Amino acid sequence: EPEVPSFIASKVSQYSCQRKTTLNNYNKKFTDAFEIMAENYEFKENEIFCLEFLRAASVLKFLPFPVTRMKDIQGLPCMGDRVRDVIEEIIEEGESSRAKEVSNDERYKSFKQFTSVFGVGVKTSEKWYRMGLRTLEEVKADKTLKLSKMQKAGFLYYEDLISCVSKAEADAVSLIVKNTVCTFLPDALVTITGGFRRGKSTGHDIDFLITNPGPEEDDELLHKGLLLYCDIIESTFVKEQLPSRKVDAMDNFQKCFAILKLYQPRVNSNSYSTSKNFDMAEVKDWKAIRVDLVITPFEQYAYALLGWTGSRQFGRDLRRYATHEKKMILDNHALYDRRERIFLKAGSEEEIFTHLGLDYVEPWERNA
Ligand code: ATP
Ligand code: MN
Ligand code: MN
Repeated sequence: EPEVPSFIASKVSQYSCQRKTTLNNYNKKFTDAFEIMAENYEFKENEIFCLEFLRAASVLKFLPFPVTRMKDIQGLPCMGDRVRDVIEEIIEEGESSRAKEVSNDERYKSFKQFTSVFGVGVKTSEKWYRMGLRTLEEVKADKTLKLSKMQKAGFLYYEDLISCVSKAEADAVSLIVKNTVCTFLPDALVTITGGFRRGKSTGHDIDFLITNPGPEEDDELLHKGLLLYCDIIESTFVKEQLPSRKVDAMDNFQKCFAILKLYQPRVNSNSYSTSKNFDMAEVKDWKAIRVDLVITPFEQYAYALLGWTGSRQFGRDLRRYATHEKKMILDNHALYDRRERIFLKAGSEEEIFTHLGLDYVEPWERNA
């Protein structure tokens, strides 16, 4: 029987930060089902079951071959009974009845719609669902609802925001952000993080990290009005504070969950459409794009870069690894060694991996 040489299931680490996971996923059939299951548990605020399916998905994304028999997953970590049941059914039937049930479930479908709006999370969705609301049309029609500023922007630019951001759009926005930042801070370093840094060709947003080398710190940058919508969250970082132990905690950087107006030159590829669109002024020549801007002090830059590059699962496992294997606490600001009671400084991601005793994992290998 053909076996993939040098692949030993029992040697696969339970931590995705000890695996190299590219975008090359041989097991999408399985991981898509797991992600539906995980999302449904997230909507039910069942973190344990949610993480169980996310971890399993991450292990299968790493496998260098497609799973075709139960024997293929023998010895792999994170393969609990609930996960195995789903795998077994997909192998035998081609699809998972549980995942199918979930995707047709009324509550799941409503939550999926609600959380697709910028500014709407599980808590708000829960509230709307309890009020008897089921679709976005019903939400929009309900004039008694008090929407936040963020949610209003989410509805206003909804169609643009649910369409994915392309690499070309990310590059165009990157130029704008870099140019704008540089007019205020000529020495600033602007880096794309998130999915695009991991090599993805599309994303739901574009993530930027901005730092200014040297002693100068500028907390005015975000207040200069370059954005369509901008919800500025001021820095809450306190010097010498211990890293957060919460696995999914927000960090304390000054940041901005923004919507940027990206002008796109209109291409007249079809002369019919231009003659039909009589009033040229009515044709929208821009697209609303979600952008996250994070400002970090220079000495925390490496930690912020590692945290904001993700993937989310990769970050979770880095923190879990630090806590359970190294008696250290890692967050987006710092790494604290609890035995030595010291903060470990790092000027690059490589140094952070070294502090943790881990082999370096390139950004495009962090698609866990
Ligand atoms: P997508 O293409 O869907 O945007 P992504 O991997 O870029 O995928 P994001 O949600 O943009 O996903 O997040 C990028 C990274 O930043 C993730 O690893 C996530 O853990 C981290 N992150 C996102 N939001 C926050 C936050 N509020 N505080 C701290 N870290 C965050
Ligand atoms: Mn992103
Ligand atoms: Mn983001």
